[in-house]
Amino acid sequence: MKPLTESEIRRAFVNCGKGEAKRLHVPRDLAERPWDDLDFLGWRDPQAPDRSYLVAELDGRAVALALRSSSAVAGQARLSMCSMCLTTHSGGVSLMVAAKTGKAGQQGNTVGAYMCSDLACPLYVRGKKDAGVGARLHETLTLEEKIQRTVANLAAFIAKVTA
Ligand SMILES: [Zn+2]
Repeated sequence: MKPLTESEIRRAFVNCGKGEAKRLHVPRDLAERPWDDLDFLGWRDPQAPDRSYLVAELDGRAVALALRSSSAVAGQARLSMCSMCLTTHSGGVSLMVAAKTGKAGQQGNTVGAYMCSDLACPLYVRGKKDAGVGARLHETLTLEEKIQRTVANLAAFIAKVTA
């Protein structure tokens, strides 16, 4: 994806208030992120580990989500699969919950998905980050097809949040 600046990312948030979007943690090393290998950028707030964020480019527009991860899943050593990139981790998958946009969100409605806890799905798909033996299913899909599938899964999640 095209590199984004801090202000572009803050403006892209769709499911939190403007005040929160201004204050929330955005990585300082944006310039060093491997944008060429990213379909979306995800990060966690080091001060508040249950808060995660991601920004993707959909139809040429940046869309960012504020996520809460349930700590109930963290620390469990059972194998779980990320629903975005289909990487299996032992204890490295979290239930990420996003408030819905608009009225539905104000009424407390959320959408959840199991995702890699470090939100590094694009790097796992490309083999740039290793999740361990057996983490990736052997598939006959090409890399391009796996990337497209991950993007489609993320787009479907974002569509549910913004529906
Ligand atoms: Zn993943």
